Amino acid sequence: MITENFRILEVNLSTGRSAIKNVPGVETVLGGSGLAAKLHMEYSRPGLAWDDPSQPLVFAIGPLTGFFPLMSKTVCAFTSPLHGQYAESHAGARSALALRFAGIDALVIIGKAERPTVLHLGANVIEFMEAGYLWGKDALTTGKLLRRILKGSGHRTIMRIGPAGENKSAMACINVDTYRHFGRLGGGGVMGAKNLKAIAVEGNGSCDLPQGKEYSALFADIFRKLTDTDMMRKYHNLGTASNLEALNELKALPWRNLQATSDPGIDGITGERFADDTLLRNAACSGCPVGCIHIGFVREKFHKDNQYLYRQVGYDYEPIFATGSMLGLTNAPDVLTVMDEVEKAGLDVMSGGVALAWATEALEKGVVTREQTGVDLRFGDAQGYMRAVHMLGGAVNDFWRTLAGGTMAAAARYGGEDFACVLGQEMAGYATGEVFYVAQGLGLRHSHLDTGAYTYDQSKAPKDVDKALTFLLEDERERVILTSMVACLFARKVYDPETLRQCLTVLGGQALADGLDEAAARIQKLRWQARASGGYDPMNVRIPKRFLEVETWKGRTDPQYLEELRLAYAGAIREMCGPEN
Ligand code: SF4
Repeated sequence: MITENFRILEVNLSTGRSAIKNVPGVETVLGGSGLAAKLHMEYSRPGLAWDDPSQPLVFAIGPLTGFFPLMSKTVCAFTSPLHGQYAESHAGARSALALRFAGIDALVIIGKAERPTVLHLGANVIEFMEAGYLWGKDALTTGKLLRRILKGSGHRTIMRIGPAGENKSAMACINVDTYRHFGRLGGGGVMGAKNLKAIAVEGNGSCDLPQGKEYSALFADIFRKLTDTDMMRKYHNLGTASNLEALNELKALPWRNLQATSDPGIDGITGERFADDTLLRNAACSGCPVGCIHIGFVREKFHKDNQYLYRQVGYDYEPIFATGSMLGLTNAPDVLTVMDEVEKAGLDVMSGGVALAWATEALEKGVVTREQTGVDLRFGDAQGYMRAVHMLGGAVNDFWRTLAGGTMAAAARYGGEDFACVLGQEMAGYATGEVFYVAQGLGLRHSHLDTGAYTYDQSKAPKDVDKALTFLLEDERERVILTSMVACLFARKVYDPETLRQCLTVLGGQALADGLDEAAARIQKLRWQARASGGYDPMNVRIPKRFLEVETWKGRTDPQYLEELRLAYAGAIREMCGPEN
């Protein structure tokens, strides 16, 4: 139930000490994104490098976690290896409920372990386990071994890194349980820099539910909307993979490093194709009755007598774009096979796929050489990409080490900046137009999820800078409330502001419900201030030339509209970063 203070567990890996702290501010920052930004502001050292041991790694949940369905996300905040500034990444699986049942609203990790370590904690346990035997192991094997060693069950989450994280890659993700990730901006690299191979949280405490009919009636109503209406159906059925065909049709699906936006090869990688040829089952985050996670299989020959191993691989729209169309792969099993390698390496699939697409074009154009890459890269060649994923995750030589620092860092060194598909970080799979390019390029997390800009581009909205700017600012503000509550954004139609107010009220948070709009504006600004404290200046962001060459159903990118919107959004962000407002 809603309390006045947050209950924060602070763990220092350097000293081996930990402490529970009661931190005020529930009414002002709510939780999730707001809490993560607040804690980052309090703990981070903006003048120091991202991998300085004193820099914090934060995991925060929200006030509704454990009480309502799909309040399933955990917000991970850190100083990004990509840009050295505030970063957030969000993931679900069992992470949020495990933290709730461990009795904490947030975990703050500072310091650096002397040796590879697994941090194991719960409501009545905290231990630092020696993990030298896990160092070098891939993310899937690490998860498997830890599940065997830590016999717990129920609300237990295992968050770990693969080789990419150990190598402090700016593209390293944190793999969460199975099929979920803190993907973007290099959270895995932060764990690697702390010698932290894994964090296992046992949700072995209890959590009292409110008494009375009001709570159960509201819960039942929300549950009904999630399961008995059309609001969530598309996520369960074909899932987000259904977007592939639609975006290809709209000429908005990036192909072969965004050299095209539509291709007949789509037939081999549509949502229907994945469902018909590869789908095994659906899975869900803890407490979610929707189950949007689609799990396909890949076959691996392991014996000369045609004996096969079947491996399960989770797929969605984004991983299919990044390891499919972006790399020119048009066969669903090939795409899953590359995706599986990305999973093992512990790479963010979008950053990894887009980086490999850039490297392929750079090799084709002679910007880099075969000697530098050490492997042949050709659009459509899955075998080459499987090898390349290992080289990128393992940072095996100078070229791959540089690329592991980000595609634009590699392009700045070798050339090829014009065709680096980077919008703040490697692009998400939406070549929809000017509003999306500006939104991802300048946005707080450089994520397609901070605003619905790709949907705005697909509407018939006129090219009006003021209207687009208003949309970006308001949509971000609405989403900030959801990410502070840690709602799955797929449920944003179910959890409208009025429903959120009702949820807070039945948990005893009337004041939070009454101040929701003010909190939204406050948290939006706080996050930007956190970003600015690391030196971010949105005016410095440039949109690479490749995005100007894109042709969608609306025609070619309009450079004037793009530039005017870029300047307007950068100006608005600068205002939000300032303390005077
Ligand atoms: S809809 Fe999907 S991502 Fe969202 S909580 Fe459910 S399973 Fe997790």
